[in-house]
Order: sequence, then structure tokens, then C-alpha cells
Amino acid sequence: MHTESNRTMKALVYEGPNRIAWKDHPRPRLQEPTDAIVRITATSICGTDLHILHGDVPAVDAGRVLGHEGVGIVEEVGAMVTDVHVGDRVVISVITSCGRCSACKRQMPSHCRHGGWLLGNSIDGTQAEFVRVPFADNGLHVLPPGVPDESAVMLSCALPTGYECGVCSGNVQPGKSVAIIGAGPVGLATLLAAQLFSPAEIFLVDHDDNRLETGRLLGATQIVNNSKGDGAERIRAMTEGMGVDVAIEVVGLSETFDICQSVVAAGGHLANVGVHAGAVSLRLGQLWAANVTLTTRLVDGTSTAMLLKLLENRKLAATELISHRFAMPEILVAYETFGRAAEHRTLKVVVRAGEEGDLV
Ligand SMILES: [Zn+2]
Ligand SMILES: [Zn+2]
Repeated sequence: MHTESNRTMKALVYEGPNRIAWKDHPRPRLQEPTDAIVRITATSICGTDLHILHGDVPAVDAGRVLGHEGVGIVEEVGAMVTDVHVGDRVVISVITSCGRCSACKRQMPSHCRHGGWLLGNSIDGTQAEFVRVPFADNGLHVLPPGVPDESAVMLSCALPTGYECGVCSGNVQPGKSVAIIGAGPVGLATLLAAQLFSPAEIFLVDHDDNRLETGRLLGATQIVNNSKGDGAERIRAMTEGMGVDVAIEVVGLSETFDICQSVVAAGGHLANVGVHAGAVSLRLGQLWAANVTLTTRLVDGTSTAMLLKLLENRKLAATELISHRFAMPEILVAYETFGRAAEHRTLKVVVRAGEEGDLV
């Protein structure tokens, strides 16, 4: 059945710190009866992929296919897969989950004993022509015809992260004031998701004017350029010294975490979304005295089906998060563009299966 040509594929392979290549790689095969093989039609690059590329995620071995965001067509399913079928168009969740362990049963699949963040981390990922998705019934969501690939791929990671770790953990409510620190793709996804709950004010803080302007168009009521380091002070001034009900950290630095500590109001929530490589200075005495709730969370993907409903009914402007589009053979250019975001005015990049030269 198998000819030599269909045993290999092209994939973006991590070859060690600061080295990636678009090259031939063995095509994935079903390993478990709960697996599916998906032919990727669109993928995207996450900030986490850049951390891996720079060697900051030592668990990722050389030879690994990167990527945990993707949309595609189901090519093959194992004998125990019941809810997705060959030919279905699907979005792949960043989180793999068995659905049966104690973490899964507590609605915390990010800590699934047999899953969690595996794709593009401990198993081969989505930046390839084909990917093997374990526990396919849980990790894949069948797409309705009206949802384009490029908006669906925002459901793999960026939108559920903003919604679950920022908006839900931060308890955004109608009429509340929110500050989002960081206007990168996940910060902007958080901005979109926050508006599902009609907060009265949303302050968006960054040092990049282009990203802030995009944020203004996407619904931020105040944009705050923090390049002089006075962002917290200005938010306090704009809120008559009270601060905001919800402060959401979407960068992962001690400095940006500190802005959240400075602006969160009494009784407020501080939701940390950013991935912190180092320690932060926690002003616990101040937060305690102000009844502040501090939350941390990995994305679970438990909101993906709901967010897909919103996309289907055009209630979420997911494509606004996309700044660049590339064809798969140009994926190294896509990485370069994503890696130098300020220079290229990059938000999310979408990489589609297809030929070179149809760059939009
Ligand atoms: Zn991601
Ligand atoms: Zn599980």
C-alpha cells in the first residue's frame, strides 16, 4: 500500500537552539487506536515556539517537529475514534487529553496524566504536512463550513488562552474596569474575549504603538504606551486613584506583573497569563490587604467548542489577530517575521499548505 513517497513529508524540524529547518521527515502513522492523522491545511506560530527555538524549553529534543496550532482534514482514524471521521475538517487543540483521568474529570485537561501540552513539545507537532493527534475525539473539533481555516486556527491556542486564563480567571463582568498588560497576539485575543462580558473600560498597555492602535480598533477604551515606565501611574490617574477591577498580565516579565500589582483595585482580580521564565517580586502584603485574588492557569481548551460557536455566528473577530499569511514552504520567513514583531508589525502569522509565492 505505502509507497516511499507517502512515508515522508515536509515538516519544520527543531535541530537545536536557534536552528530550525523545513525538511523531509517521516510521515506520522497511527500508534494508538484513539489517534487520528490530520493533513494540515493551516498552522500558526506561537510565542512558545520562539521560546523553544531560542533553547528556553530544554524538554524539547532536537529532531522534534514544532507547532501546536493547526487546522486540517482528517486523513486516518484509529479503531476507537468515534466522533471524528476521515474527511472532516477540524481544528486541533493545543491540549491533548484522555478525558478519563482525574485531572480530565476535574475539567483540567492541561494536567491530563496522559496528555497536556504534547504537540510540538514531547511529540511531533502541527507545523508539518501531517500530524498525529492522540485522543482525537477530545483534541479535535469538527469545523462548520462557514468558519475559514485561518480564523479557526486561532482556536488552537490564542483565543482559549485569552478567554480561559485571562477573562474567566480574572472574572471580567459587565461594567467592570479591566487592564490588559501586553498587546501581543494573546493580549489582543484577551481583549476580544473580554468584550464578551461587556466591561465598561479596557486599558491596554504595551510599548509598541502599532499593537496599541490595533488594540484601539479592537475595542480598548484607553491605550497606554508604557515605554517611559509610567503606565501604572497613568492608569491610576485615569481611575481616580482606584485602579481597575481586573488586571491581566500577558507578557511574562517581572516588570509587567508589577504593573498589575500597582493597578489592581481593592477586591480585584490579578490574572496571570504570561509565561514567566524568572521570578517576580510578589507584593503579597499589599495584595492581601486589598482582598486581591491572584490566579495562574495553563490553557485547558475547555472553552474551544463555545468559542467555535461564536466564530460560526461571527461574534468574535478572530481574523483581526492575523497580520501575515505565508505558504508552508515559506515557514522560515514566517518565523523570521514573527520573531521580529516590532519591525514587521507582526501579530499572528498564518501558514497555509500550498505553494510559495501567494504571500498576502
Ligand atoms: Zn500557542
Ligand atoms: Zn486525562
